[in-house]
Amino acid sequence: MQHFPIFLNVQNARIVLSGGGEAALAKLRLLLKTEARVEVFATEPAAEINRWADQGRLALTRRALTSGDVAGAALFYAADEDSNEDARTAAIARTEGALVNIVDNLEDSSFITPAIVDRDPVTVAIGTEGAAPVLARAIKADLEARLSPSLGLLARIGKAFRPLAEKLPMGRKRRDFWADYYFDAGPRAFDAEGIDGAEAALDRLLNRHLGAEAQVGHVDFVGAGPGDPELLTLKARNALDRADVVIHDRLVTAEVLELARREAVLVDVGKTGFGPSTPQDRINALIVEHGLKGAHVVRLKSGDPTVFGRLDEEVEAVAAAGLGWRIVPGITAASAAVAGIGQSLTKRGRNGSVRFLTGHDMQGFAEHDWAALARAGEVAAIYMGKKSARFIQGRLMMHGAAPDTPVTAVENASQPGQRIHATSIADMARVMADVSGPALTFIGLSPRYAMLAVEPSAPKEIAL
Ligand code: SAH
Repeated sequence: MQHFPIFLNVQNARIVLSGGGEAALAKLRLLLKTEARVEVFATEPAAEINRWADQGRLALTRRALTSGDVAGAALFYAADEDSNEDARTAAIARTEGALVNIVDNLEDSSFITPAIVDRDPVTVAIGTEGAAPVLARAIKADLEARLSPSLGLLARIGKAFRPLAEKLPMGRKRRDFWADYYFDAGPRAFDAEGIDGAEAALDRLLNRHLGAEAQVGHVDFVGAGPGDPELLTLKARNALDRADVVIHDRLVTAEVLELARREAVLVDVGKTGFGPSTPQDRINALIVEHGLKGAHVVRLKSGDPTVFGRLDEEVEAVAAAGLGWRIVPGITAASAAVAGIGQSLTKRGRNGSVRFLTGHDMQGFAEHDWAALARAGEVAAIYMGKKSARFIQGRLMMHGAAPDTPVTAVENASQPGQRIHATSIADMARVMADVSGPALTFIGLSPRYAMLAVEPSAPKEIAL
């Protein structure tokens, strides 16, 4: 280890930087997070540096650094992006006793600035001694995703609570309590009720860990997105990471389920459009049953749970049972499908609103405001619209829609088997008869590339 990692106390210390361009800005963004007094010497400071100076966040001197400027400073950064100037300023800084970092010059630097994951007071410093910056970036990205943005705040609240937590016996019990707080109960309470909630959660959690309160279950209604695991939110990933039980729909893909905690029990309550399904009452009962046993239940729904997801019935059952719950939104099929055809759901001068429709409801084929939908320029995203394609076609034609109005069905949006079927109102029923996977049908949109004279390398799976 050529570089020894330490955390330097820079409270009220002086940090001097020479330079006013990009390299200076990058370092200053980090330095301004500290409690140090930051001083900048630059003949031509970037606008942002001027602004920080105006805001009193740093002291700016608009000239080149000279002898005496670094005296008494703890750290010095040579960030002029000019090797001669960097060598000149670094020599001054060394003589005046500061530790020196020359940007992009590991060799002549006495210290290096690591990649930082900032959850102050929790900070993670990642260094590769210049060997593999790509690795440092990847590790940083991984940790950024894993550590809740509220972690720093929770750590500060937790610190004040440490004496009370001593009521728990040292070792495993106390560790479990803190793990529960930092990775589960804390972030959840903070999301729902802010700082006060995060503080109150500590008391409740301590009582529970002391055995005074039974473990209360919790239900997360989580959006699994359209299938591509990369389209999950970080919150969804974290919930899956902590779940005791995952109750999921048929449309949730294997790749997404793969991310559930290894010990989690997976329950498939698959609902197919018109096919066999677990009755809704049974699903409600199942969620409540696991919740009442104290489990962390993730009710995983495809897309966004708030879109055609029968969410309200389940939330009401959970709330009536006295269980805690929250909704974690997801990317709905319409968003993934529209991205897949390179279009947008709304467009200036074309449509200022977009409708999300279901092809069928509990009564059968669903009725809608067909006259409004038949108008030129309207855009509608139809869920569960395969079996109802002929019905929708008939209704739109009856209300005067132009037969050549574009219709596009996106099958398996975001998944490896994605297929795009571009057609028109006149032909939609015939085309839709061939679609087998889940499909989202757009009325009023065609794939962007179809409008071009020359198709730019269209992905292979696209079938027109
Ligand atoms: N809550 C879900 C929708 C549930 S209804 C969401 O927000 O996306 C189920 C319907 O969603 C399917 O019949 C289909 O029309 C659509 N759907 C779900 N996933 C899809 C996907 N990957 N590609 C295309 N359509 C999809």
